[in-house]
Amino acid sequence: MNQTAQTGPVKGSFLMKEGIHPDYHELTVACACGHTFKTRSTFKGNIMRVEICSSCHPFFTGKQKLIDSAGRVERFQRKYEKFEKDKAAKK
Ligand SMILES: [Zn+2]
Repeated sequence: MNQTAQTGPVKGSFLMKEGIHPDYHELTVACACGHTFKTRSTFKGNIMRVEICSSCHPFFTGKQKLIDSAGRVERFQRKYEKFEKDKAAKK
């Protein structure tokens, strides 16, 4: 069976008729790290900007590569470094 034509969401303007779903639409979420993804939301506008997402948050990635404009991760890193130093000092 060839189902390749059936994968993914159906694209077409017939699904985007105005007035049917005025407050719930597809939009692009743009993270500060550069990652973007599409979602559906009642958020006004076509782009929602976020500071952190599941692609760059160290909790999800285990990496520390992100741009953190709010300084939250920096504070966390300082705290963690102190924790590591305290742990080392007790040896
Ligand atoms: Zn991100």
